[in-house]
Amino acid sequence: MSDSQKKVGFISLGCPKALVDSERILTQLKIDGYDIVPTYQDADVVVVNTCGFIDDAKRESLETIGEALHENGKVIVTGCMGGDAEQITSIHPGVLSVTGPQAYEEVVGAVHKYVPQIKTHDPFTDLVPPQGIKLTPRHYAYLKISEGCNHRCTFCIIPSLRGDLVSRPIGDVMEEAERLVKAGVQELLVISQDTSAYGVDTKYRTGFWQGTPIKTRMKELCAALGEFGVWVRLHYVYPYPHVDDIIPMMADGKILPYLDIPFQHGSPSVLKAMKRPAHAENTLERIHKWRAICPDLTLRSTFITGFPGETEQDFEIMLNWLEEAQLDRVGCFKYSAVEGAKANEIDGAVPEEVKQERFERFMEVQSRISAKRLQTKIGKTMEVIIDEVDEEGAIGRTAADAPEIDGLVFLNGETELMPGDLVTAKIFQADEHDLWAELAHPEQ
Ligand code: SF4
Repeated sequence: MSDSQKKVGFISLGCPKALVDSERILTQLKIDGYDIVPTYQDADVVVVNTCGFIDDAKRESLETIGEALHENGKVIVTGCMGGDAEQITSIHPGVLSVTGPQAYEEVVGAVHKYVPQIKTHDPFTDLVPPQGIKLTPRHYAYLKISEGCNHRCTFCIIPSLRGDLVSRPIGDVMEEAERLVKAGVQELLVISQDTSAYGVDTKYRTGFWQGTPIKTRMKELCAALGEFGVWVRLHYVYPYPHVDDIIPMMADGKILPYLDIPFQHGSPSVLKAMKRPAHAENTLERIHKWRAICPDLTLRSTFITGFPGETEQDFEIMLNWLEEAQLDRVGCFKYSAVEGAKANEIDGAVPEEVKQERFERFMEVQSRISAKRLQTKIGKTMEVIIDEVDEEGAIGRTAADAPEIDGLVFLNGETELMPGDLVTAKIFQADEHDLWAELAHPEQ
């Protein structure tokens, strides 16, 4: 690094989709010769990638921008909250520029404008690794397959922030996946707003991968990714009929037997009011069918309690649904009105104390289910991917656990392992979140 090299501080807030945007911006900045630094003091400018999904996230974004302005003074804002520049500039008029999500070129352009490089970047001495800059550890990576969403769920403003679905060409997605695998990635996490809708916008256009025609469609993508021999995990899938086609691939070990499906509710009338994708599907029947084909299938989901118009009866339908579905991992949110969301116009706002009470009842039921399901793993031997190693031992995950959001496996005393190692371990203890295990073959 030369002294004249300009330095950029970068703060990435929000979901994995925003993280992928951050990785793209950072990769471009690095290619352009900027250095990325971890402190406000060292940076010539700070980029904040914001999240505007719910009010708490907006608050956090505004606080972060305020902190960056105070500590550094030169701040460029991008991301979901940047879709409405006014809400940022009215509070922080000192920011240099505001752009919305996926505005990679504008953000990079703003960095060039406010902290121009003195020396031209030399691509032969300042090489960026071919897989780009990743914010996740080296052994797993998010693979974004599309932007935007064609649905109009009434509680969500993402389509107005990110626009309609635009699927990436399948050849590009596969090339990126190949680069990541060659760089040592052991786990690919497929993300989008609606993974099951991949290719709908292009009418499943035929692309090319290694000279062979391949359709831009979830099933074909899963089959192709499954050939890399690394873990492939699917996030944000909706229970459309064609999801049935990928369950056999999971049963055959081609992709991980893991589905992240944001069901959000169990009552048909609430799902209809939410305008959820595939709300008319009989999801319980589908779940039973999937588990019959792939008994190891892990189902993760999120739910909302206290959606406007939710009655006690709706809520009880959801609890019964939960009891029958026996999901493995579940997150729950109390409904909070997001500015600009259609759901705010629905009658029957649920009082805060009722939301809270339902949230607690919901979590009580789900904690019992999650704990019971984890108990069944005791005594089993499973593959574990190692994420972290410290002086106390190693921490990893099984195929049933996505990074950041699911549970962990503790391998106490295993200080010789390395992040990214795949080991076989025997589970001997469980609580409602995590597992404890010992190596099945201690010499591995
Ligand atoms: S599927 Fe619904 S919740 Fe998800 S991004 Fe699209 S509109 Fe929002």
